[in-house]
Formats: sequence, C-alpha cells, structure tokens
Amino acid sequence: MTDFAELHSHLYGCLTVDDLYFLAERNTPRWQIFVDSWTKAHGTPPVMDGLMDPSNRRILEKHYHFKSASDFPKFQACFDLIIALSSTEPEELREIALRVAAREPAVHAEYRQLLSPFLPMDDFKARMKALALAFEESNRLNPKKTAKLAVSIPRRIDRANEYWIALQDLLQEDAVSRQIVGVDFCAQEEGNPPSAIAPLLASIQSFNTQHPDRALAILYHVGESFADKSVESAVRWIVEAARLGCHRLGHAIALGIDPEMFSLSTRQEIVRERMDQIQFELSELDSLQSAGLELEPDALKVELEQLERCGTESVTITYDSKRVRNLKLFQDWAMQEIKKTPAIIESCPTSNVRIAAIQGRHPIHRFLEAGIPVVIGADDPGIFDTDLPGEFQILESWGISAEEIAKLKARSLEVTSEKLVRRA
Ligand SMILES: [Zn+2]
Repeated sequence: MTDFAELHSHLYGCLTVDDLYFLAERNTPRWQIFVDSWTKAHGTPPVMDGLMDPSNRRILEKHYHFKSASDFPKFQACFDLIIALSSTEPEELREIALRVAAREPAVHAEYRQLLSPFLPMDDFKARMKALALAFEESNRLNPKKTAKLAVSIPRRIDRANEYWIALQDLLQEDAVSRQIVGVDFCAQEEGNPPSAIAPLLASIQSFNTQHPDRALAILYHVGESFADKSVESAVRWIVEAARLGCHRLGHAIALGIDPEMFSLSTRQEIVRERMDQIQFELSELDSLQSAGLELEPDALKVELEQLERCGTESVTITYDSKRVRNLKLFQDWAMQEIKKTPAIIESCPTSNVRIAAIQGRHPIHRFLEAGIPVVIGADDPGIFDTDLPGEFQILESWGISAEEIAKLKARSLEVTSEKLVRRA
C-alpha cells in the first residue's frame, strides 16, 4: 500500500464517539451550546436523555455522525456537540492530540486548530504551544509517523492581525516552530473576501522570506460556502486567494461544481460582490473573451453604474442558459489561471458531498481533468465517520483510476507545508 499524507483535517473534527465520552467524563459540558445549535438547525431539540450513556451508543452516534447530504447549520450542530463537551485547556489539548495522532492512518498529518475567538491572547498562545509540544511528544511516541500543527486564525482583518502577532511570538521557540508549519484561515467565509486580508498575507510571506527555518504554509478555506453570492463571485475568490499566494486552497468547491446544478435557479448576491465581479470581468475582459465567455462590456458598465446608485443590499442573479454556459467557461478559465500559480487544492470528498450537498459530479473530476494539483483530505473524519483510506475508496467508487489515486497519494507527501515553504 502506498503511503499518503493527511493535509486537511481539523483536530477536534477527528474525535470519535469514544473521545466524546472521554471529554464528558473530564469536563462539565456546556449543553446550551449544543441544544441551541441543534434546535436552530433542525427545528426540534436534540434527545438529551441518555445522550452520554455509553451503554446506548446509538443515541450519541445519531446526534454526532453527520451522514446525509444536508447543510452547514446541521453540520455545525454536530461540531457544537464537540464544543459543548470540550474545554480546550492545555492538558485536554495534549490528550486529544496524542489520541488522534496515535490512530492516524497517514504517515504524515497536519492538524488544524481554531480556538475560541473570545480567548485572551495569552491563553491562545499557551494552548497553541501545548498543542505543538503534544505533537512533538506524539512524534517521539510514534516514530514512523509525523504529526504537525496548522494554527487557524480568524479571517476578519481586525482580529487576524492580533493573532498573527501572537503566532509570531510563539514561533520564536524552536520546539514550537518545529511543529507549527502552517497558518489556516477557516470558519465563516461569507463577508470575508481574500482581498481584505491581502496585507496580512503579504506580511506572512515577508516573514517566510526573513525566517525560512520557521516559514508557514498559508492554508486557506475558500469557495466552500457562498450563500451570499453568485457562484461566479465564489470562483473569483478562489482565483484571488491563489494569486495572493495562498499555498493550499481548502475545498474550492465553486471552482469545479457542475454549473447545471444551478440551471434555472436564482441566487441573491450582495451588491458589493456583484460590483466586484463586474469590475473583475472588465479587468480580465480580453482573456475571458478569448476563453469563449460571452461578455458585453458596455452592458456591464451600465449595470455597474446602476448598482452604484441602486441603494438595495442585494441583487437577484438568474441562472438562465447563457449564465450557466458562461459559468462553466469561467470555471475553466479560472482553473487555468490557478494553474499559473503554485496553489494546490485540498479536496475533501465526503465533507463536500454532505455539507455542500453537491449533486452530480464532484468537483475533483474537473480539477483532475484540468491538471490542477490536488490532494485529498478527510476534513472532520470523526463527525463524518470516515477516514482518509475511506476517502480514497470513495474516489475509486467514482471511477477515478488506481493510477490517479496513487498520484494523489504521492503528491500529498510532496506538498506538506514544510516541503512547500521550508525547502533548504
Ligand atoms: Zn476544513
């Protein structure tokens, strides 16, 4: 069997039902977090009676395993069960890191961790340091495998800078900087365009140049959740993230999703995004027209002027046959643009099918056809009740050849964060 690396998984999303019992024993659960989230997502409250009774595992499995194609709020309710049970105090982080890394099927794994945005910075640093040292301990205990940490920080620029300063402090310690190999941007995508944190990304890149021994790969979730915009705008965000120098792009569903899925449907797009999209199309006009897109620059300019004066919050985008055709061509163009950058896509099959309820072909087929470098991640294997070998089996069931799967595995070992940014 070929070795492979897990490059897209969230530490607490790897927890099993047994880990949840372990947390329930250890901590005082904050049940309201879970009850509120579940009730909001499902319209009915969860069954709390016997939920944490290990002699009846089915109740917990039913609430924790996210198995049907659904939506983000229902997924979040499952994640909020973890949040309700965890404290993320340093010793708990250590124990969870050791448990998860010990059973990891990949020979190299990078785990992402987002902590509560309400933590004081000193706590943030103490907890990330505890995790980094736990992975160092795990690597001593499991000498045939390596586990590393990617620190997740909020996308909002007002918060992100503060976290980046704290992260640089942490990286001054050798034992910590050996284990922290990436910085991850996750959580709410809507309202947080990659362009808004361009100065921060530039600052990380300049840090990388000055400190090649401590450089961090930039891992950026993008084009996964785009409820507030057109699919085209979500595709544009993916191109922007790649052009801004993000090393690996998480999910990028919008880039390869079947445009027919949107045929004859409408979406609401916030006016600012529609204006950004028009400006982008005008600035790339020649290239887009050469790629076959039917664009009318004069009509786009008129629309832009109208939007500047419209005073409404959002516009309705209708996916008629022309827009669906243009979307497919725009995605193809965007894939070629991304190929001009060093960016790699992390595709997470089960996660995408269940959270984004993708119908038809999974985007990975088009990524592979376009020749974009891709790696596979299990994302939150505990919640999805899957693992990375299971994800490769899913690819096989989708008709992806054994040869292609072997290539995906081989690439994962070549594009680990350290290999991307800490080359000698
Ligand atoms: Zn993820």
